[in-house]
Amino acid sequence: MSRALRVAVIGSGPSGMYAADALVGQTDVPVTVDVIDKLPVPFGLVRYGVAPDHHSIRSVRDTLDKILDKPGVRFIGDLEVGSDISVAELHQYFDAVIFTYGASRDRRLGIPGEDLAGSVAATDFVAWYCGHPEADRAEFESLVPSATAAVVVGVGNVAVDVTRVLGKTVAELNDTDMPQHVFDTLDKSGITDIYVLGRRGPAQATFTTKELKELGELADADVIIDPAVMELDAFSAEQAASDKATARNVEVMREWSTRTPSGKRRRIHMHFFARPVELTGDDRVRQVVVERTALDATGGASGTGELYTVDADFVVRSVGYRGTALDEVPFDSGKNVIPSADGRVQRDGVTVPSEYVAGWIKRGPTGIIGTNKKCAVGTVASLIEDVSANLLPAAPRGTIEEFDARIADLETVDTAGWRSIDRAERALGESAGRARTSLHTEAGMLAASKG
Ligand code: NAP
Repeated sequence: MSRALRVAVIGSGPSGMYAADALVGQTDVPVTVDVIDKLPVPFGLVRYGVAPDHHSIRSVRDTLDKILDKPGVRFIGDLEVGSDISVAELHQYFDAVIFTYGASRDRRLGIPGEDLAGSVAATDFVAWYCGHPEADRAEFESLVPSATAAVVVGVGNVAVDVTRVLGKTVAELNDTDMPQHVFDTLDKSGITDIYVLGRRGPAQATFTTKELKELGELADADVIIDPAVMELDAFSAEQAASDKATARNVEVMREWSTRTPSGKRRRIHMHFFARPVELTGDDRVRQVVVERTALDATGGASGTGELYTVDADFVVRSVGYRGTALDEVPFDSGKNVIPSADGRVQRDGVTVPSEYVAGWIKRGPTGIIGTNKKCAVGTVASLIEDVSANLLPAAPRGTIEEFDARIADLETVDTAGWRSIDRAERALGESAGRARTSLHTEAGMLAASKG
């Protein structure tokens, strides 16, 4: 090929940015990369998933931002693949496409009452407090101030994030980039009790210890756990003995179980072997019907038939993220991923030429940010291997200038535009004594992108 290889990366979250970095970082094949995102701003779940009060994880943003400055990398924000431009059209301009658009929707509980007002997906609640432009601001501004007790379903790291944000005082969140209306709404929260429901035991919870520990250190929330639940059954004891992370989690929760509540304004109740079977209410959820469970022989949760109820008018379902299909692209609707082999997209077991995948939409929503780096690097290695072996179709392609002309009438945001948004967010933050405040409307971002 006489010109540089042209690659389109769909999604600018960690896996997309790390894929771009790996592409321009290798020396076998000259490459240019366009990182495309449907939002005007880059970084996906690093911006809209990582909790705003987790400053060290959020600082990954600075690492990702530097990738945008590397020669050969362009950012094209506010361009939605599937509506503004099709995948087929991208193939007319790019030699290869890498799908890295993640898993942004929620998994369902599949129980009666799940759709009552006041029952929300963690994905939506997190998007709201991170200032996602598509978040339903009116919904949370109505629900949070009028709520008195919350149930968080699930015991993963997202459940811990959500519980911590609900449990913290606004003073504890003040150094974050949450939009002002989020502070104002959380400040009006009437929630005094937060029940966290794990359908299995403390040894099977998927949170990481560092994140878990923070729940026990909040200024105005006591954490409460029944000591009896910390008497591990043989299966769980074996799990804790063979896995250090599990042992550390158990140790943290065991210490909590010995605490006497100190009369703080809020209480976080950790309930294990507890799965919701129904949400009941009227104009909004009022109660969660919970079934006690026991571990079965394989470590799964099986119902005991014994029920109890928890009064709650705000329910956050934090039972995992789910990837969604993109028009024309193969999709495994059982696993909610794009099927692949070594990062090469597969249709019915056959490789789709010049299509690749990385990150959560390849593997499912698991792992930390670093997991996505490894995943993206692996996918790029497959792509470069295919180029070196002349396996990419040598179809005639439109030039990059023709691609730019194709999208010229759409209001897209380039790296310079994103940097203007970045400056505007820092300035907005500074005006309130913070390092940054996220712009939360698409119109606001687009206006800021023009400097
Ligand atoms: P997760 O770790 O998979 O946790 C999902 C939770 O939902 C589990 O407790 C699971 O229980 C429960 N669950 C699933 N279906 C359920 C049902 N029908 N009824 C009741 N409970 C149900 O997922 P996540 O918390 O969404 O996190 C996604 C990924 O992002 C993880 O890899 C996580 O570590 C990562 N993350 C990391 C951080 C951080 O490092 N600070 C922060 C946020 C997210 P079972 O185990 O019984 O299935």
